[in-house]
Amino acid sequence: MTGFDTGLRAVLGDKTAKALAKALDLRTVGDLLRHYPRRYVQRGELTDLSALREDEHVTVVVRVQEVSRRSMRNRRGSIVEAIVTDGTGELTLTFFNQAWRERELVPGRMGLFAGKVGTYRGRRQLAHPDYQLFGDHVQDVREAAEEYADEIIPVYPASEKLPSWRIAKCVQLVLDQLGDPPDPVPAQILRQRELPGLAEALHAVHRPRRIELAWQAQHRLRYEEAFVLQTELARRRLSTAALPAMRRAAVPGGLLETLDATLPFTLTEGQRRLGDEIASELDTPHPMHRLLQGEVGAGKTVVALRAMAAVVDSGGQAALLAPTEVLAQQHYRSLTAMLGPLAQRGMLGGSEVGTRVALVTGSMPAAARREALLDIGVGDAGIVVGTHALLEEQVQFFDLGLVVVDEQHRFGVEQRSALAAKSRDGTRPHVLVMTATPIPRTVAMTVFGDLEISTLSDVPGGRAEVSTHVVPVDEKPHFLDRAWQRVREEAEAGHRVYVVCPRIGDEADHTAAEPADPDGSGERRPTAVLELAETLRAGPLQGIGVEVLHGRLTPEAKDAAMAGFVQGTAPVLVATTVVEVGIDVPTASMMVITDADRFGVSQLHQLRGRIGRGDVPGVCLLVTDAPPGSPARERLNAVAATRNGFELSRVDLEQRREGDVLGAAQSGRRSSLKMLKVIRDEEVIRHARDDATVVVAGDRDLTEHPALRKAVDAVVEEQQAEYIDKA
Ligand code: ADP
Ligand code: MG
Repeated sequence: MTGFDTGLRAVLGDKTAKALAKALDLRTVGDLLRHYPRRYVQRGELTDLSALREDEHVTVVVRVQEVSRRSMRNRRGSIVEAIVTDGTGELTLTFFNQAWRERELVPGRMGLFAGKVGTYRGRRQLAHPDYQLFGDHVQDVREAAEEYADEIIPVYPASEKLPSWRIAKCVQLVLDQLGDPPDPVPAQILRQRELPGLAEALHAVHRPRRIELAWQAQHRLRYEEAFVLQTELARRRLSTAALPAMRRAAVPGGLLETLDATLPFTLTEGQRRLGDEIASELDTPHPMHRLLQGEVGAGKTVVALRAMAAVVDSGGQAALLAPTEVLAQQHYRSLTAMLGPLAQRGMLGGSEVGTRVALVTGSMPAAARREALLDIGVGDAGIVVGTHALLEEQVQFFDLGLVVVDEQHRFGVEQRSALAAKSRDGTRPHVLVMTATPIPRTVAMTVFGDLEISTLSDVPGGRAEVSTHVVPVDEKPHFLDRAWQRVREEAEAGHRVYVVCPRIGDEADHTAAEPADPDGSGERRPTAVLELAETLRAGPLQGIGVEVLHGRLTPEAKDAAMAGFVQGTAPVLVATTVVEVGIDVPTASMMVITDADRFGVSQLHQLRGRIGRGDVPGVCLLVTDAPPGSPARERLNAVAATRNGFELSRVDLEQRREGDVLGAAQSGRRSSLKMLKVIRDEEVIRHARDDATVVVAGDRDLTEHPALRKAVDAVVEEQQAEYIDKA
């Protein structure tokens, strides 16, 4: 009996099996049946030829319009040239020294043609295409057209070596031998959701009798992908929830209460609600695993600080993990500032209910580091802020109760668990992950499916206006001069200005990119940090303090640059994307991003989040030489058009391949998500998540669902393989 694991060789023979393996990496019956058609051609519908792109390998359905043969001019031999049409556009097919093609390609006949799109003398052509004419055995052209009219033809992702129709034949052979494969989706769910079974869906997706049946089958296969993935995520949530953790609760008159009384503002409704939610989760004997998402400036830090305070009250410690040194420093400063005397326990003027805050980064001086490690080890530091240096073995906590991860997208699941392993007596710390990258809910459900999700949707006190403009230097070179003039005005008005560059620009990356030279005049427009800072100091910003900030500076130099910027001795900061996340300077009113087209939509949004944080309205300039109408320019226009992060993250997802967006930890799922699109299939994912949660609650090890178990294992294995590939 042919099952999904059967090798293709047994069904299709050695030669074909080898071809499928080589061209498309399909090795088993399951692989082939999961190689779904990309689209269908039906009822005499022809392919729109105007949509073809140069150099693309295409499979088109067209009608032969005319055919001719001529001798070659400079050589012996002949060329057969056929013109095919979709009813409006035309495409030329050429064959060298194959005179017999002229007899086969009779005008009026329709068929599938496959090849690479090229251009010859301004006309689109396929040179030596592969083809299959419809109704090959039928003589009469009208008859052929009619026969074809009843049929729905699947068009497969194909390769030059293996045209779509050959794949279709293989699939047909395999389908004919397929019995009733075990279905990962339980029968009861199929009934409830009115979905066809697996065998039926596979037949319908590959050989639909009516197109509606193909859509229905696709829907079911999409559901299946979501369901299998969500089952794994539900299992992870459940096993986390079953782990032991220490209960952590604030005490009356303790740090949290005192902190609340000294906060210089009132918490927003959302901050309060979330705070309650987190407090009650911390007070259970199982670890919290929560994702907190909220726009830049939504006030996530204070929510985290309140959670940390509750943990300190309970006698435990909290660690805040930041993605960069700059951010760690800033968190350290802002937490100690917010806590005031509450951060100086044991010191003169320190509060008795307070604690100490320690900072650990990779490059701090040995003495300071030793002192910090000691404070952490004996438990004097209740709050520890740091970069991934916190993950190192020497960092021993006295009693780690809570891990807060800021800006999750820079931290993988592995790092989260490295910290989790640092808690005492086999218990797990509670985990709070914060992200300012707005994630559409279904993406969050997929990517962060092992976390519970909360959203902080209101921004305290609103934000100042920020207007964003695209500055096309090629078309309007003088706009850039005006931009620097504006930078000067902002600085002179006491505001701060960020200038962001994609590169640092020292010796090490001279090979990187050609410097911009818009008009080819040999006059280069500097676009790297060091170079641009020099140019600005010497030219348009003469007399104004200009500092640089980038990843290769020593920590002291970084600190000094930030301090100069904050205090205003250097109101202009030329930086790389180190300023991307979390930096909070309320007087920053302007940002100039050079070569803005080099950044992604989400990244630009994050960068722009650095300005308009206080009550000073902001202006953001996206400098680019991307031509109008290009995808890069469109992206910039989208960023200029809205400040709504959720909307932009949709744009981002639609523009990029989803696999890229899902990021390192998730990219392994790319191949198990063939049909599913996390944006489009919101409802499917939601249903699948609900159903999977119920199934897993009743059968955690999936012993009663062997087919599901197998499918889940395959997804997990695929992810691990991907992870190993990356390591
Ligand atoms: P993010 O969510 O981007 O991390 P922050 O936590 O840095 O935002 O907060 C942004 C600014 O808003 C900070 O200066 C913070 O002190 C301030 N803030 C936070 N909560 C409130 C509030 N409820 N009312 C007024 N200001 C607040
Ligand atoms: Mg923040």
